[in-house]
Amino acid sequence: MKRIPLAIPHMGGKEMDYIKKAFAENWIAPVGPNVDLFEEKVRDYTGAEFATATSSGTAAIHLALQLLDVTQGDTVFCPSFTFAASANPIHYQGAQAVFIDSELETWNMSPIALERALLDAKQNNQLPKAIIVVHIYGQPAKMTEIMALAKAYKVPIVEDAAESLGSLYQGVQTGTIGDIGIYSFNGNKIITTSGGGMLVSANEAWAQEAKFLSEQAKDPAPYYQHEKIGYNYRLSNVSAGIGCGQMEVLQERINQKRLIFERYKEGFTRYMETFSNFPRITCQQEIAGTFSNRWLSTIQMEGVHPLQLKEALDAAGMEGRLLWKPLHLQPVFQKNRFFAEDPNVNISNAQRLFESGLCLPSATQMTSNEQHRVIQTVAKFLIQAGESK
Ligand SMILES: *Cc1c(COP(=O)(O)O)cnc(C)c1O
Repeated sequence: MKRIPLAIPHMGGKEMDYIKKAFAENWIAPVGPNVDLFEEKVRDYTGAEFATATSSGTAAIHLALQLLDVTQGDTVFCPSFTFAASANPIHYQGAQAVFIDSELETWNMSPIALERALLDAKQNNQLPKAIIVVHIYGQPAKMTEIMALAKAYKVPIVEDAAESLGSLYQGVQTGTIGDIGIYSFNGNKIITTSGGGMLVSANEAWAQEAKFLSEQAKDPAPYYQHEKIGYNYRLSNVSAGIGCGQMEVLQERINQKRLIFERYKEGFTRYMETFSNFPRITCQQEIAGTFSNRWLSTIQMEGVHPLQLKEALDAAGMEGRLLWKPLHLQPVFQKNRFFAEDPNVNISNAQRLFESGLCLPSATQMTSNEQHRVIQTVAKFLIQAGESK
C-alpha cells in the first residue's frame, strides 16, 4: 500500500501553461510577466495593497526586518512555538529574538505573555523593533489583543502568515492585518511555487524598497552603483508561473483541508463517545471570528506521548509529525530570553503543546478511505494506550 504523506504539493493543472508561456517567450530570468501576475493574484486574493514576490518566506521575513530597520543590538519578539525560520532572520540582522509563549486556545502568541514581555522591555528601555506574530498551522492568532498591545507600545507587527494563506481574522486575510505580512510557497505549504514567498503591506515605499533590496539594491544609474547592501531574493518567472496556476486552486485546497479536519474531528469524537477509556483528544480551536485554512490537522492528547503515536503511524505507512519544538528549547537559541504565559509553572504552554500533540496526514490528495485508515490506526493505538493504564 502506498504511504500516506503529511503534506505534499498538489498541482491544479494550469501550472504548466504558465511555465510553457515563460519558456516560449524566453522569460526564464527572475523577472517577467508571471512574477507580476502572481503578485497581482495574491493582492487580489488577500486584499493586500502591495505585494513583492521573493525566493522564500524566510527571505520575505528577512526583508520585512530590514524595512523596519532591525539591526545589531536590537530585539524582536517572536513566538516560541513556531518553525525556526520565523526567528532566524532576526539573527541574520545581528539582533536577538525574545521568545513569547503560546496561549492554549489557538496555540499562538499569548497576549498575556506578550504584555509582560513588553512591560519588562519598557522598564529596561529596550522595546523590541518588531513583533513577529505567527498563525500556526493556519489558525489565526488573537490579533485584536496583540494589535492593541503593539499599538500601545508603538511596536510594528510582522505577520508570519507562511502557514495561513487564506485564513481570516474577523473577515480579514491573515498577513494583511499587521504592518507587514509574509507568505510562503514552500513545497509543503497550502500552495507552492516549488520554493517561494511574498511580502505584503499597505505601504508603497516599503513595497518598493523590498523589491529594490531583493534585486541586489541596484541604484538607478547607467552603471552598477550601490548605496546599500542588497540581496538576491527575487522569485523566478518560472516559479511564479507555478504560483499563478496554484492561486487558481487555492480556495479548493482550503475547502479540502477543512474537510480533512472535519473528518478527523468527527472520527475521534465518535471514538471518545464509544470508548470510556479513550484518551481525550483536542483539536486546535477555531476561535470566534476566525476562519482557519486548516493547513495541517493537528491533535493534542492526554496521557500519551506523541512520539509513540507517530511510530505507530509510521509502522502503518502513514506520516505524522510532532508539533514544533519550542524555539526557546532549541540549542541554537539557548541564550535567548523567553516569557512564559504563567511564570510560576515549570512547563510552559509551548512545551506542553510540543509534548502532547501530533500533526496528522493532511495532504489534499488523501482519499476518504485513506483518511479512514489513519483514523482507525490512531484509534487502535489510543484504545490500547487507554486500556494499559
Ligand atoms: C514555512 C515557514 C516559514 C519559511 O518559509 P520558507 O518559504 O520555507 O522559507 C516561516 N515561518 C513559518 C511559520 C513557516 O511554516
